[in-house]
Amino acid sequence: MHAFAFMLGALLALLVSSTAASAAPSKCVALTFDDGPHPTLTPKLLSILEKEKVVATFFVVGQLVEKYPTIVKRAYKAGHEIGNHSWSHPNLRKLEPLAAEGQIRKTDAAIVAATGTTPRVLRAPYGSMSRSLARHFDRAFISWDVDTYDWRVRNSDRVVQFALRGTRGGSIVLMHDIHEPTVTAVPRIITGLKKLGFQFTTVSGLRTEGCKPLVEARAQQ
Ligand code: ZN
Repeated sequence: MHAFAFMLGALLALLVSSTAASAAPSKCVALTFDDGPHPTLTPKLLSILEKEKVVATFFVVGQLVEKYPTIVKRAYKAGHEIGNHSWSHPNLRKLEPLAAEGQIRKTDAAIVAATGTTPRVLRAPYGSMSRSLARHFDRAFISWDVDTYDWRVRNSDRVVQFALRGTRGGSIVLMHDIHEPTVTAVPRIITGLKKLGFQFTTVSGLRTEGCKPLVEARAQQ
């Protein structure tokens, strides 16, 4: 009888937990920061993220990783994801295939030197990636569905508006940690998204934690 009651209890607990999971799908969002590391702004951003207990993804430029490896190491150790964003930020589609491949491989090496780990994700500068080049690399090419236009507006209030307006469960938000107004906007973006019930994850975390990213790589012909 006790065994039966125990099994019934366990079954009920399973039912309740699976119902709860399906009734309240997690609202995950991945904040992404491109074009760094920046010598002062990236550490400032890392301190903000640490205080807020939020993880993000940094798509770093290889030549800056080589220059500021300790910043990348700090980000990696704090649980953020490090992604490859090429060596010198060219439009990869305008390069010869070998040169484009070199941009990515060299950046991989710089990231490995800083963190000990090969990045799993890659974002092409300007989102510009050819299918033929994409085929060379066994990893996820990451785009975005929420553009904060931070590189253009350079205004914290506008960046907050853009970030909060378009974000849905599974969103990937594009920002740049080389602009001061962006970093200034981040605490308000985090507070706003938390109020809307979002949890923060990395771009790879969007997959592993059951939050589907809205945008897969847009490899172009
Ligand atoms: Zn970029």
